This record gives sequence, structure tokens and C-alpha cells, in this order.
Amino acid sequence: RDLGEHGVLTERLGRALAEELPLVARDGGFVAPGYSEELDELRALRDESRKLIAALQSRYATETGVPSLKIRHNNVLGYFVEVTATHQSKIPTGERDGGGGAFIHRQTMANAMRFTTVELGELERKIASAAERALALELALFDDLAGEVLARSEPIGLAAAALAALDLAAALAQRALEGRWCRPRVDESAAFEIAGGRHPVVEAALAREQDALFVANDCDLGEAQRLWLVTGPNMAGKSTFLRQNALIAVLAQIGSYVPAEAAHIGVIDRLFSRVGAADDLARGRSTFMVEMVEAAVILNQAGPRSLVILDEIGRGTATFDGLSIAWACIEHLHAVNRSRALFATHYHELTRLAGTLESLACVTMRVKEWQGEIVFLHEVAPGTADRSYGIHVAKLAGLPPAAIARAEAVLASLESGAQADALTSLVDDLPLFAARPSGPATASSVEPSAVEARLRAVNPDELTPKDALELLYALRGLLPSD
Ligand code: ATP
Repeated sequence: RDLGEHGVLTERLGRALAEELPLVARDGGFVAPGYSEELDELRALRDESRKLIAALQSRYATETGVPSLKIRHNNVLGYFVEVTATHQSKIPTGERDGGGGAFIHRQTMANAMRFTTVELGELERKIASAAERALALELALFDDLAGEVLARSEPIGLAAAALAALDLAAALAQRALEGRWCRPRVDESAAFEIAGGRHPVVEAALAREQDALFVANDCDLGEAQRLWLVTGPNMAGKSTFLRQNALIAVLAQIGSYVPAEAAHIGVIDRLFSRVGAADDLARGRSTFMVEMVEAAVILNQAGPRSLVILDEIGRGTATFDGLSIAWACIEHLHAVNRSRALFATHYHELTRLAGTLESLACVTMRVKEWQGEIVFLHEVAPGTADRSYGIHVAKLAGLPPAAIARAEAVLASLESGAQADALTSLVDDLPLFAARPSGPATASSVEPSAVEARLRAVNPDELTPKDALELLYALRGLLPSD
């Protein structure tokens, strides 16, 4: 396809257009001086006339003895002479001087009088016609340039697209070189194996702002551990880890090098993410509603070739509601969607699912406690976090000491309470899809109902169509009336 040769046009545009361009063309002022001789002349005339107005103003001021006399302009009257009411008697109008005076009254304001003169009227016509002709010429030049550009719009579009592609490839190549990125292996497998992955943006920000090093982390979502449950304190780097892996996947699949030491990715058909809290109140959706809508999209659409990152789920509602939703989402992702997924959470109770879900692996962001403080190591390691250190982060953020002390006391009492263990029993429950729709299996529901007892006594092979119909009515009759 022909990208065209645009040198002549760009040179012409360079000469034609002013340094600073106005937002709209209709008022002119966009053609550079020196491009059109005729335009330059008209502009000079227009600007010259403006100087003449200024000269006229000072002459009138001297002649009338009113130093504050002004020549102004508005859209209704055009140019006019204005003096304050106190000085109006000094203005020689036609009536008072028997028609010989130069000033013609135009308008009386609360504090001022406005006049015009024959001289001013003539000057105004000159200015207006020079300005009008300059504008008309500019607009004609604009049409001319626009026509030339439009006539070549197709090759220009192709050239722009080609430049954009070059720009993108060059930028990615530069990033790859400067950031020590590697060439990923993308194939038909189900692998997601990243060695020494990094988040390019956080890494650059750390280097720039704190002169600190980014800690690289591995991620392996192979078949035996395709769902990673990432726990760890606040501020430990969970979100960063999730996002860096999603970014690596996107970069690999657009054909770029990736910020890692090595990467092997089985083609991903769709990338799903639920990160951060955003709301859409204007459209009538609360923060929690948005979170749930996003989670619903993922559970309804993600497949075995997809990559899912879920950064906290169920945080916007009551603790047990949230935990239950997160719990069910993990079971669903594991059993139904079967996607490769990273799931970050503060619900440490969820890590107990590792006992029942075979492809679930628990990893945690390592921290070190040192002299009563915690140090974030930003390292992802197998295992689970036992606490969130949320109060520690609240302290770092500057919550008042009294509130911090109170929060510590409340936490201690909650942790020692019966609630802490209430969830343990959930793990022994049946997982999602073995669960009885009518509720958990309790001792009382084990007793067979009348309908069940009657059904158990039937041998369907021996029933005639008539018997079957009668049985149906009988069974219906056994149900409690509604
Ligand atoms: P929260 O649970 O509060 O949302 P989080 O665990 O998701 O926290 P991030 O927001 O990912 O934490 O990270 C917090 C900060 O830690 C980042 O802004 C970054 O400065 C630093 N950080 C994260 N990951 C790394 C890393 N691998 N190496 C160095 N610093 C990191």
C-alpha cells in the first residue's frame, strides 16, 4: 500500500501555520506571518488603523480638555468616544455649537456619555474592512490547506498508522533494553510460568522516588496449582504482584519482551481483572454493587484458557457476607471456570480451602518482625499469612495513638472470642457443588420425608402409565399444603 510522499505538504503546513494555534478557525489568527503577502498587508492595515484610533483618542483628550476621555468599542455601537458624566459639558456637540461641532451624541449611561464623530466612523469602516478582508483571506487559505490534506487523507492515514506501529515497536524495544526484559515463550500449553517477574511501573517509580530496588517474584500457575491464593499484610505488595503478572501476559501476547528473567505462557484467550474499589454512583451502582457486577462477569465468562486476577473480593460488605462470597467465588473458579487465577485476600480463613481444592496453592508476601516493627520483604513465598497488620499500617498512616490503642484492644478481644473458630467448621462442609441446595446436612434433615419413603418403595420398571400418574398425584398429596 502506498504511504505517499508528504514532504511538500508538511513543509507547506510548517510555513503556513502559526506557532500557537487557536482552538477554532472561525476567528482567524492561525496563518503564520510571511506565508501570504496579501494577508500580511491587510493585517498591517488593520493594526495600523488601531494605532490611528489611539492617536485620535489622545488628540480628542487634548482638544476637549478631558484627559480621561476614551475611545472604546462594543458590538452594538462599534467604536465610540466615552466621557464620564462630570465632563459631558466639555464635549462640543452639534446642537450646542450650531451643528459645527464634531461630536454626535449616541448614548447616555448612568455615569457616562457616549459620542461618535465623522472621523471615527470613517476610521472604523477602514479597520472593519481590513479585518474582514484579512479574515476572509485566512479562511480561504484554510480551505485550501484543508482541501490539500483531505485529498491525500488515505496515504496520510496509512503513513500515520505505520509511524504509530514503528513508534510502539521502538518504545517497547527501548523499554526491553533498558529494563532488562526477556523474550517470552508463548505456546499452546496451559503454562503460566514467570521467573523473576517485575512490575515495570512500580519498579521505575521506586527507582526514581526512593532509590529502592524492586523485588522480583516468580509465579507458576501450572495445572497442579493453577489458582493462587495470595495473602499478606496490607502494603506487602499483593496488588503489585497480581498486576505485574497480568501486565506480563498482555505484553507477551502483543509480541513484546516482558519484565522478567524468563516467561512461558500458554496462550490466554481473555484476561479478567477485578481490582481496586471504584464506584459508579452516577449510574446508581454502589461500590459493592460494582464489585459484584465485576465478579459476576468473571464467574460467568472466564474459561480454562483465561487468566483471572481478583484483588480482594467481598470487602465492601459485612465480614461474613464478604467471606462467604469470596469462599464461593474461589470454589467456582476452581471447579467451573478452571482458569489460571491469582486471588488476593485478607480473609485468611480462605487458605483452609487448600485442604479441599486440589489445584489451589497458598502463597504469602513475606514480612519480618523486627523490634516491634514489621519490615515488608515484598517476597512471594509458599504459605499463608496469619495476620494482616492492618493496625500497623493505620499507625504508619497517622491515626491518633488513642485510636490505635483502642483498635489493638478490640482486636485482641475479637481474636480471643468464639467467632475466631466459628469458620473452622466450614472447611469440613461439602464444597460448593456437592452442597445440598436445601441447606447444610443437619441431623434432622437426615430423617427421610414421607415423599422420600413413598418413592423408595416404588419400582419404576413395574409401573403402568396409569400407576405412574396416580403415584404422581399421591406424591403431590403428601407435600404440605401451601
Ligand atoms: P493492601 O493489602 O493494603 O492493598 P498490597 O499488599 O496490595 O496492600 P501493594 O499496593 O501491592 O500492597 O504495594 C504497596 C507498596 O509496596 C507499593 O506501592 C510499592 O511501593 C511496594 N512494593 C510492592 N511490591 C514490591 C516489590 N516486589 N518490590 C519492592 N517494593 C514493592
